[in-house]
Amino acid sequence: MVAVSLKKKIAILATLANATKVDYTGHKVIRVVPKTEVQLSFLLKLQEQAYDFWSSPSTLGAPVDIRISPSRYQFLINLLNSVSLSHTIRFSDIGKQIEDEERAIILRRAMHSGRAFDFENYHTYPEIEAYVNELATTSPLVSSSVIGTTYEGRGIIMATISTGSSATKPVMYFECAMHAREWAAPATCLFMMNELTTKYGTDAEITALLDYADWLITPVSNPDGYDYTWTTDRLWRKNRTPNGGLCYGTDPNRNFDAGFGGPGASANGCSDTFHGPYAFSTEEASAMRDLIIANKGRVVAAVSIHTYSQLWMSPYGSQSTLPADYTEMYRVMGISVNALTATYGTVFQYGNIADTIYLASGGSIDWTYDAEGVLYSYALELRDTGLYGFELPPRLILPTATETFNGLKAMAK
Ligand code: ZN
Repeated sequence: MVAVSLKKKIAILATLANATKVDYTGHKVIRVVPKTEVQLSFLLKLQEQAYDFWSSPSTLGAPVDIRISPSRYQFLINLLNSVSLSHTIRFSDIGKQIEDEERAIILRRAMHSGRAFDFENYHTYPEIEAYVNELATTSPLVSSSVIGTTYEGRGIIMATISTGSSATKPVMYFECAMHAREWAAPATCLFMMNELTTKYGTDAEITALLDYADWLITPVSNPDGYDYTWTTDRLWRKNRTPNGGLCYGTDPNRNFDAGFGGPGASANGCSDTFHGPYAFSTEEASAMRDLIIANKGRVVAAVSIHTYSQLWMSPYGSQSTLPADYTEMYRVMGISVNALTATYGTVFQYGNIADTIYLASGGSIDWTYDAEGVLYSYALELRDTGLYGFELPPRLILPTATETFNGLKAMAK
């Protein structure tokens, strides 16, 4: 009988939770594979419009996933047919998938209630803020601060994990969830905080890494967007600044002063890759800029953590020219990816953004490298390669975070 009442409770909670949310019932994710340059450039143009690309067009033969509503489905298929692009259906009903995810989260919460913070589940922004603040009071290694205040008034919370012995130590900065819907990213940042703080002094590797550098982590770099994915639209990517008219949001990771407004960023306020009216117009990007500048000369690594596609990438995204330090960047990417893959066999591709995905201008790591000389500036796309996409089930958080942290520890070494 207990099981039945729990089931009922979950069903009620899920219904309540869904009442005011964007309904994705019947939305499909289709997969197309460009085989000619004409098809590839067609997809790149399409991405600059108001279509929801789950993975970017990159090279010939590489699959591209696009979400489409039932009412626009036939229109998109006709467009694709005009350049002879055929498609397969990856997901026939995203609404169902979001429901499954919600149920898995609620079920885990019910099983875990009354216990400590659950690193194997997804959390709201207030819960994450509370965790960071609590960690700052319970761990002598941690202090919490707010590095910026968003358009909707949320503080962008950061944990500084430091042995406190020197203000001249190297700094490694990790930012998660600049893109709101990529939930496995903040889950990974939180896991890292827990590992660093609970294993310092007992785990030789973690002790050495914290003795060497201060670890600065913003688990949710775009809190307005992230909160919106919980309350209203699970698939929201950008921040929540109004653009005039009906469309909201700037993509903070197209808003940095690094090839701003160039290829792979859109001038259309309704697009998911809208770069904003001017560089650093978003609080999310400018807060990160100010943080890096405040630690000038100390920042040795800046890592931007996203999902999904299983990629470890270096500058540049804004141009196809390789950075002057590419040999060293590539060497360390190889070491990091080897350590990541050695954990569970998860395969990652690696290389500069322009060759690995495609041109994407205005990104954070181009800026940290070019403007601030941060040599180990990387952007990661974590699991998976499209089986679950953004709705990675809670049971896969731990393996995802563990392998990623192993890669990052190898990088830091
Ligand atoms: Zn992203």
